[in-house]
This record gives sequence, structure tokens and C-alpha cells, in this order.
Amino acid sequence: MLPPPLEMVRQLVATPSVSSPDDRFDQSNRGVIDLVAEWAAELGFAVRIEALPGDPDKANLVATLGEGDDGLVLSGHTDTVPYNPERWTDDPFVLTEREGRLHGLGTADMKGFFAAALHAIARFEPGQLRGPITLLGTADEESTMGGARALAEKGERLGRYAIIGEPTGLQPIRKHKGVFYVQVTVGGKAGHASHPALGVNAIDGQQLVLAALQSWRDTIGERYRDDDFEVPTPTLNFGRITGGDSPNRICDECQLSLDIRLLPGMERSAVVAELRDVVANALDRGPWTFDVSAIGGHADAFGGPSDAEFSSTVETLCGCSAKAAMFGTEAPFLAELGLQTLVLGAGDIAVAHQPDEYVTMAAIERATDVYASLIQRFCIESP
Ligand SMILES: [Zn+2]
Repeated sequence: MLPPPLEMVRQLVATPSVSSPDDRFDQSNRGVIDLVAEWAAELGFAVRIEALPGDPDKANLVATLGEGDDGLVLSGHTDTVPYNPERWTDDPFVLTEREGRLHGLGTADMKGFFAAALHAIARFEPGQLRGPITLLGTADEESTMGGARALAEKGERLGRYAIIGEPTGLQPIRKHKGVFYVQVTVGGKAGHASHPALGVNAIDGQQLVLAALQSWRDTIGERYRDDDFEVPTPTLNFGRITGGDSPNRICDECQLSLDIRLLPGMERSAVVAELRDVVANALDRGPWTFDVSAIGGHADAFGGPSDAEFSSTVETLCGCSAKAAMFGTEAPFLAELGLQTLVLGAGDIAVAHQPDEYVTMAAIERATDVYASLIQRFCIESP
């Protein structure tokens, strides 16, 4: 017997699984994987726990019930973002119910998903399934997307359709932008401020780069547009600039960090190459050196499923049309595996990554109903 949904969420929240590029905060997700694996095994799933390449503390769960190629994948990430305990009303690892809201780190994003998915599956007998159900629990979505990336690189066929249960207020999401970070370093030569000709000022070079990137930003905004998005163009944000050490020295190095968000269909490598050309042209006649490099991980844009019937079935079930989201997910990796993918889950993305994050029990119950209807439709009626 599965524990009741509330008890599942309580246990999952009580099991820390923070992932972060910063080693001070990064934790293993094995505790969460083991809990979900145990519950899936109870329902008769064949369970595999796959450590990420080179990182035994991080693992994906691949659990399958039933046989065949054309089943339904229900997918969630098992990690959470780091947290600021002093800004939480209660302990983020103790599920706390207030005014019908279940507060705790990862309740909406997205430990509540596993309770909804497992209880949806529990409504059926394994013998009823004509197509398999695969439950995925991934590692490191919030940091490197290493879990989903490992699954995509392995290339195993997992099914035909996939639902990622990120918090969408149970409105299906069929596309989102991609994001990556770039650092532009301009190099010069230090010298005494009183004698400009003895040095090369990197800040002078960087401001030429900034002006060129500002006008490049305008041109890509004219070339690419998708009105499904609230912000219909690609974006380029100057997020951080550092350089120099003292007013009386010529600055010898200046770094600019950018956040670039791409529309579905835009190629990251092509955009980086174009950006490099813009920087090279801006510094063309000067004495500066420069370097353009990607920093941190990246998330690709997601252009949505091609199977119109899948989308319309999900839209009908949810009573609303699929939308474009501002946040990124693991969907591009599942799409790479040939899965027709939509994002759909309980809870509000606006409370995710925040102190006092919550989901309501009513939302988890509605998600359970929707997932059960999808299993009925895609694994029982017409796999
Ligand atoms: Zn999430």
C-alpha cells in the first residue's frame, strides 16, 4: 500500500535534495530517488537507479510498468534549489499546513508531483495496461540539467508521450525559451592613469563592445519573433560587469556577463558565433584582446510536440489551451528522445524558488485526476 499523498509529500520534503553549481549548497538526491523507487516498486514497477556519469551521489530513477515501446512517461526532477532558512516562516524541511496550503521546500517544484503521479498510477491494475507507464525522477534539474542530459545521451527509447510535472497551475505548457550565459572579456594593458599612452584601457574597449551588443540586440529582436511569448523576442541582458582595481590605474581587464534567451528554432552555437563576430568588429581597430566564452550550463529552447492529437487531448482534459512559458524545463532533452512532450503539473511557478513555497492538497488531487485520465487515454484505450 502506498502512503497517502500528504504523507508522501511530507517524507519527500523531509529528505533534502538541494542541487546547486555552488559546492557549499549541493547535496545528493539519492534519498528522494530511494523513496520514489520504493513506492514505484510497491506498485509493481521494474526500477532502475542510474548514477550520473562521474557522480555517484546523483542519480536518475527510471521505473517502468508494463511492456512495449509506445507508452506514457511521467517525469519530474528530484532536486530543489537552495533556500534561505531565515526567510521561511517554518522549517523548509517540515511540511507545514496553513490555510489549506502545504508549505515546504520543493512542495510545488516539484516533490508534490511524485505523490500525484504515483497515486494516479495506483488507480489501475498492471494487467489493464496495453502500453507501459514510465516514471522518471531526474537529478540536478535546478543546477546543470545533468540528469536529463545523461538520459538524452544514453538515447534509450522511453515511450511515445511525456508529461513533465513542473508547476504550471495545471495549464499545459508547449514551448519555452532557451537560456545560456556568455562572458565577454576585454584585455588591455595596465599603466599609470596620468599617461594614457602607456597602457590600453580595457573599459574603453568594453564600452565599444556594449554599444555594439546593444544594437545587435535590436537587430535580433527584429529578425526573430514569436508572439506566443509574453516577451516575443529573444532577450540579451547585461547582468554583470567587472574590471579594474583603482581609479589611478589603467584598467587591464574588463569582464561582461550576459544572459541570452533564445526562441525555439534558434541555434545556440550560431548565436554565439554571431556574438563573437560582433565583439571582434567592435574592437577591430583597437589594441585590445578579447575572449568570448560560455559560462555555466545552458538550457535549450523547447518548441513543443508535433503530435497535434496529443496536445489537443491534453488541452481538452485540462479545459484550456497550451501556452508558452517564461521558464525552462527538461523538455528539450525528452524531445531529443523522440518523446511528444508537454509540461503540466500542480502548483504555481510563482511560488517556486521562494521562501514559504507551497502547493495545495486540492491541486495535487486535481493533478492526480488529470494524470489518471492520461494513463487511461494513452496506456489503456489506445496505446
Ligand atoms: Zn522545477
